[in-house]
Amino acid sequence: MKSLYDDNVAKEFTNDLEYRVYTSRLLGGDSSLVLHGGGNTSVKSVVDGEEILFVKGSGWDLATIEAEGFAPVKLDVLKEMATLTKLSDTDMVSGQKEAMIDKTAPNPSVEAILHAIIPFKYVDHTHSDAVVTISNNENGISHIKEIYPDYLIIPYVMPGFILAQTIYHELKNIDWNSCAGIILHNHGIFTFDDDPKISYEKMIEGVTRAEHFLDANAQLIIEKFVPRAEINIENLSTILSKEKGYDVFVKVNQSPLALHYASQRDLNSIAKRGVLTPEHIIRTKRNPMIIEDGDIQKAIDSFEEEYLEYYNQFTSNEIMINPTPNWAVVKNFGTISFGKNEKEASIIEDINNHTMQAVLRADMLGGYQSISLSDCFDMEYWELEQAKLKK
Ligand SMILES: [Zn+2]
Repeated sequence: MKSLYDDNVAKEFTNDLEYRVYTSRLLGGDSSLVLHGGGNTSVKSVVDGEEILFVKGSGWDLATIEAEGFAPVKLDVLKEMATLTKLSDTDMVSGQKEAMIDKTAPNPSVEAILHAIIPFKYVDHTHSDAVVTISNNENGISHIKEIYPDYLIIPYVMPGFILAQTIYHELKNIDWNSCAGIILHNHGIFTFDDDPKISYEKMIEGVTRAEHFLDANAQLIIEKFVPRAEINIENLSTILSKEKGYDVFVKVNQSPLALHYASQRDLNSIAKRGVLTPEHIIRTKRNPMIIEDGDIQKAIDSFEEEYLEYYNQFTSNEIMINPTPNWAVVKNFGTISFGKNEKEASIIEDINNHTMQAVLRADMLGGYQSISLSDCFDMEYWELEQAKLKK
């Protein structure tokens, strides 16, 4: 991965936020680093004598972010929040909102506290495909340790307050001079520096290490398949629209990767091992529906049955999400994404493309392994997501 930082462009910048917008967009422009609202960045600056963290606001995409996409939050309030022993994510979000010096700005990212406690001016965070491909693996911990001896490595913790608190305790004993970055298992990578270019280029260097490791140990060769199965798309769309309660937009993917994936021998064990990075679950659910013999109704019934079993196993009275699939892998045909509209179906398809690639490569390293079922449930039924449903 190459640095795209251009000193000629950067020399025009006159303030911290301009640098922050520039390198955020460089990161956001690469879909192997962040996808559709994923990842976040921040800069610590001073406004009217007060230290302010400008952190990516929710609803903004790093690829297209503007200065107004960053939420300005009082740094000392965020740092104070990190020291609390208990805080619900709902209270964290409202506390952060209260600490904003511009109430019209977007809500700060749920990872704002984490950005605040890293004592460097610029903090960059991505969900790099290469890093999570290696991490989402039965041998993930040992591979990551080998590749990142100079990084702080944190086992998987749910995003939000509990992650910020975990890192707050880890950071107390850290020697910052020897820490090049942070890897969050099954989630992503952080780099930081007082200089925007160095922070960004540390990200590029960190991700390049993972890419080299994958090139050496998990070269993916996509075989050329032609579709060897048919599916009645109209029928699929009718059944799903009825189950979901709205007209479903159906997007078929028969790219070489999708066909290669759909031609794997045991789809039920290959394709049902969970998400690439936790937040994807909100869009894709944990698993796709598998259609192996053209029987759509049977596949949907079996997906819903499994979903209900998962919900019942972990629920403590959350509102159940519609138990229908958001995408399908159709044996020897390809994949199909389902959305409320074309945009949503395309986002789901993009995520699937990155996930399929990661699964196939991670299998070459010992076996793809994502977060546990119970961690999936916590993410999918996060109180912040439940709050949206209650509205
Ligand atoms: Zn993240």
